Amino acid sequence: MRENKLTFKEIKEELFRKAEETVAKSIYGCLQCGVCSASCPSGRITPFRTRLLIRKTLLGVGLDIKKEDLWLCTTCYTCQERCPKRIEIVSIIITLRNIAVEKGNLIPEHLKICQNFIRYGHAVPLDNENKEKRTKLGLAKNPPAIQFIAEALKQLQFLVKKLEFDKKVEFGWDS
Ligand code: SF4
Ligand code: SF4
Repeated sequence: MRENKLTFKEIKEELFRKAEETVAKSIYGCLQCGVCSASCPSGRITPFRTRLLIRKTLLGVGLDIKKEDLWLCTTCYTCQERCPKRIEIVSIIITLRNIAVEKGNLIPEHLKICQNFIRYGHAVPLDNENKEKRTKLGLAKNPPAIQFIAEALKQLQFLVKKLEFDKKVEFGWDS
């Protein structure tokens, strides 16, 4: 796993490479007015400050792409709808997340979800407790989901290997 902090040059290069140019360029119009932070439902209950994330991205200073902040956005688009400069905030945040993942900076919770996806075909597999609940409701114990369709799961895992997604999310085939 590499250093969490990307340099100014790296962030800018990656942002412009990954996001559409108009999206990336829109960041230069930020007034730092704070409307985004004031509108953010996540920021009301967490330390996440949208304006600060945009500022740090713009300056490329101290942006730690593994930091939780980056993952606290719910992609509700409220900030983007209200931004007076029409900055494509959500696309920028999603691009930063993609950069973080590409550089191997996933937080443990996301690693676990990705590993579940490879193992079961679902981020949240059906557990015994829920199987019992289904039975009590008169439903089949196992729904027709990929978790229970061996051939479909095999195909998914074939693609995962082909794309080397397993390596990216530190998946252990033997564990
Ligand atoms: S609302 Fe738009 S212009 Fe204002 S701080 Fe946020 S991103 Fe910048
Ligand atoms: S899209 Fe993300 S950053 Fe914008 S208001 Fe919603 S939660 Fe906050």
